[in-house]
Amino acid sequence: MKNNVQIGLWILLLTGLGIIVYNIWLRENTYPPLPYTQFLAELKQDRILKVHLQGGAISGEDSAGRNFTTYTPDVSTLMPVLLRHGVEITAEPPPYQGTGGLAAIIPVLLIMGGWFLLSRKRSDGMSFTGNRGRKFIPNSGNKVTFDDVAGIAEARQELQEVVEFLKNPDRFSRLGGRIPKGVLLQGPPGTGKTLLAKAIAGEASVPFYSIGGSDFVEMFVGVGASRVRELFTEAKKNAPCIIFIDEIDAIGGKRSGGTSSGGGDEREQTLNALLVEMDGFGSEETVIVIAATNRPDILDPALLRPGRFDRQVTIPIPDVKGRLKILEVHIKKIKAAKSINLSEIARSTPGFSGADIANLINEAALMAARQNKEAVEMEDFDNAKDKIVMGLERKNVVMSEENRRITAYHEAGHAIVAKLLPETDPLHKVTIIPRGRAMGLTQQLPIDDRLTYSREYITNRIKILMGGRIAEELIFNRLTTGASNDILSATEIATRLVCEWGMSETIGPVAYMQEQAGFLGTQAGARPHSERTAILIDREVKRIIADCYDETRNLLRQHNRLLHQLAEVLLVNETVDAEELDIVFHCYLKELQKEEDMKKQHRCAIA
Ligand code: ADP
Ligand code: ZN
Repeated sequence: MKNNVQIGLWILLLTGLGIIVYNIWLRENTYPPLPYTQFLAELKQDRILKVHLQGGAISGEDSAGRNFTTYTPDVSTLMPVLLRHGVEITAEPPPYQGTGGLAAIIPVLLIMGGWFLLSRKRSDGMSFTGNRGRKFIPNSGNKVTFDDVAGIAEARQELQEVVEFLKNPDRFSRLGGRIPKGVLLQGPPGTGKTLLAKAIAGEASVPFYSIGGSDFVEMFVGVGASRVRELFTEAKKNAPCIIFIDEIDAIGGKRSGGTSSGGGDEREQTLNALLVEMDGFGSEETVIVIAATNRPDILDPALLRPGRFDRQVTIPIPDVKGRLKILEVHIKKIKAAKSINLSEIARSTPGFSGADIANLINEAALMAARQNKEAVEMEDFDNAKDKIVMGLERKNVVMSEENRRITAYHEAGHAIVAKLLPETDPLHKVTIIPRGRAMGLTQQLPIDDRLTYSREYITNRIKILMGGRIAEELIFNRLTTGASNDILSATEIATRLVCEWGMSETIGPVAYMQEQAGFLGTQAGARPHSERTAILIDREVKRIIADCYDETRNLLRQHNRLLHQLAEVLLVNETVDAEELDIVFHCYLKELQKEEDMKKQHRCAIA
């Protein structure tokens, strides 16, 4: 790259020097121009010895030996005069376009110099010998297999066929089956798409070429396209092999007519080159292109046509069973204590991707190492998870005693409602240690990743959310801002209950567009609604929340003593886990039972 800059500068410098030298040469070699009339006069006086004709341009020597130049408007009338006076004549054809030879080259040289300077970026991207198209040598130490990718049974089955094909292409083509060319892996980031592509290469023991979609998009138009061509040329030489294109949406986005910048052109050229290459190779070249994206919705439909990425495999965020399998794969990399309960970790990490889980295990190992432990314990996992989920524990932040008490009652309120109502997720942990922006936390664990929820489950969720605020109100008889998040969540759930899930009796099972449609945007198919319906929806959402609020207040009033008990335990222990919660509840219920019995006896005695 440096060399090219130097070459460019040298060419510019030499061109400049050339211009100066040429000018000097011209001055030395051209003689004072003689007016044509004077030339004719001297000619007629026989004072001209020689002339050299070049078109109309005349250079010559007079009888005194002086050189001169002049120009004739009409050579044909001059010739007889020259001959009559016995002048020695030489001639040559006029130069092309009348300019000096060197002068014609100068612009060419300037362009060449400039091109060399600019092309330094180009040639940087034109070679695949660098680390751009990394080539993974099969059977090397870090060979990836399907066993390294956990929890993707369905995708694995589909991709097994690709492996078979790479291993044994003849068997497929002999029977006339159409050979797959492209596979599109779609799914959220960190779900193991790259890992899976590597595993296919590893299973089939073929080379693996990878390139990121954003690598293609460069400043200079044409670079991406030439990079694609080179990648394919290189890959074809080493077939059978795999080409992996990460983030294909960077070049494969829809070709929207009239993109704003030149970057759009570049993308289009690159995409076209890719399509040409994919259409170009025949069945004798066993190259399979695997592409990954988390935005399949914005891909150009041309990419998905038969013969291109016609196989699409979705890699979802793992469910609880998938998370357990991924944990099992990654736990082998660390020294874990025997007490580790992987299924509990799996249950407490809903929404985690494979990459998040790998990160969790690494983080837990680091925490254990910091404390010089022999092995990684459950506690380290809990801490690592909290750190990842909510930002670091702010243990050292001093909370005023009053705030601590309010938080303890608030969280106890959530927990008690969750425990006492049916159809709720079991409690995992209640804490008044502040984390991130939250003062405390009541955590429930779903038994499995539910896909559908009953109306009862949903209204109970609202009641649990209200429990915190109500506990504060009952005990301290004042409101704080601590419940703002709860209120927001409750309102959102109630709105969806009415507008999305059609669970309100007054509104009925009709899907309406929601005011705060959230990041998903407006739902397709949802009805826009009139002002009147909006008022109805509003009223209904308010009613649902008000009903939940009242019922929850009655519940907590009724179990006021439990509220005090649990809050006290929280103030002492700060964190209460599921087992301890069970003990608190069990004691309370037993107490309650005893009182009932005593009341009964008392009544009997009176009667
Ligand atoms: P993507 O390409 O989908 O963004 P990656 O393949 O780069 O995700 O995943 C990043 C890392 O996360 C992997 O190297 C691996 O350690 C871990 N990982 C992700 N999914 C899985 C999985 N299903 N099984 C095991 N590890 C996984
Ligand atoms: Zn709360």
